[in-house]
Amino acid sequence: MRLRFAPSPTGPLHIGGVRTALYNYLLAKKTGGTFVLRIEDTDQTRYVAGAEKYILEALQWLGLQVDEGPETGGPYGPYRQSERKDIYRAYVEELVAQDKAYYAFDSAEELDAQRRAFQEKGLPPFKYDAKQRMQMRNSLSLSANETRSLIESGAPYTIRLKVDPGEEILINDRIRGEVRFKSEELDDKILFKADGMPTYHLANVVDDHLMKITHVIRGEEWLPSTAHHILLYRAFGWEEDMPAFAHLPLILKPTGKGKLSKRDGLKLGIPVFPLSWKGESEEESFKGFREFGFDPRAVVNFLAFLGWNPGTEQEIFTIEGLIAAFSLDKIGKAGARFDYDKALWFNQQYIQSSDDTQLAKQIAPILAKHGHHAEPAWLEKFCHLLKERVSLYPEFWEQGKYLLEAVREYDSKTVRKKWKPERRPLFLKLAEELEQLDNFTAESTEQHVKAFAERHELKIGEIFPLLRVALTGTTRGPGIFDIMELLGKKESIQRLQTAFNSF
Ligand code: GLU
Repeated sequence: MRLRFAPSPTGPLHIGGVRTALYNYLLAKKTGGTFVLRIEDTDQTRYVAGAEKYILEALQWLGLQVDEGPETGGPYGPYRQSERKDIYRAYVEELVAQDKAYYAFDSAEELDAQRRAFQEKGLPPFKYDAKQRMQMRNSLSLSANETRSLIESGAPYTIRLKVDPGEEILINDRIRGEVRFKSEELDDKILFKADGMPTYHLANVVDDHLMKITHVIRGEEWLPSTAHHILLYRAFGWEEDMPAFAHLPLILKPTGKGKLSKRDGLKLGIPVFPLSWKGESEEESFKGFREFGFDPRAVVNFLAFLGWNPGTEQEIFTIEGLIAAFSLDKIGKAGARFDYDKALWFNQQYIQSSDDTQLAKQIAPILAKHGHHAEPAWLEKFCHLLKERVSLYPEFWEQGKYLLEAVREYDSKTVRKKWKPERRPLFLKLAEELEQLDNFTAESTEQHVKAFAERHELKIGEIFPLLRVALTGTTRGPGIFDIMELLGKKESIQRLQTAFNSF
């Protein structure tokens, strides 16, 4: 099997595009096939610098390795459509020669005038089709001589597909089942533009054919185009080895209503792009899953479930597991809700199952950004202590900064409720006793504090919360004795003394 991901470099690749890439990748790998990356950059008006680089970087971050593509090369290159211009021209000229396509000389103004005229007469919107084409200026309505002299004089023209009425078009979509179109419903699509570039339709079909693509998996929004694509395969005489089509369901907003848009990301403060993107304005700039602190494995796992499920209860899958379990028939037709909490859940699962050495490596640069360079062994313990409590990598810092920095503020509510100034000497004595411990571990300190409580007839609830606030400033976090062990004897005792003297 040969599958392709064919993005247009018109901006950052949104999460729906990433899902399309992932599904193509999974199916290619499952069948021992090939995953092709083709850059569809024929629309010069929508080209955005940096977008191709972004696509490559996103695929790389997610571990979706391309077998053939603009950087990797391959036997069916070039893989950037702008570098294949001449190929398309030859193919489209062949269609003209066979009376399956024609030159159209109508200017943008003429087309506009026609649209307006239709509107003013209260007719349905103007469609350049079999019914209308003879009223327009093209090689079918003009004489051969007129056409030749227009072309020779350098008049700009497009090339349109000649869609004849009376044809049935049946798409056997692998997800949606049978979808039918009638050729009367379709317009004479432009195949080749006046700027010498093919349109998406022509380039896409020619390339899928030349690159021997066997399966086209793409978003649902391309389903109507497929009718034209099938007519193109017919016109070229390639219908026999046309690829199979599978159109993926939409990705819906977290509310489940309407299509997920990039604005939802900004509005809800959640990522809808894999990586950050710096656009021309604030509204065009986004933070990605990577910068939010997601693990790429979790993102892959989450995206795999946006429209597909294995039909079992299992949710956590490695990429190898996904490859083994994936199949087109388990993709649903209904829109898939973008559930951000689920994405966080997946990430949390990955963090919890990561080993501490791996986590320490991941966290070190985050802590470094805040000016802390901890020893790897210490950092591993730090990660071990916090990993049950975080969903995103930067939260290791947010949840654990008191382990690296002095406590500046004590939770005043706890102090007000629990602290009795007359007990100050008692608490300072506890600190002193803890300082005497030879072996300052979580077990030894816990044992000692409990024994101390009993000796002085204090309840656990009268000591533990104060110890916690004294050590961390806050009321929540990992076990206080684990915290003491990680802080070490000197730092712990100092914190306790400072706190008990200032409460
Ligand atoms: N270039 C199209 C896009 O940007 C590709 C659609 C397809 O896969 O055919 O999505």
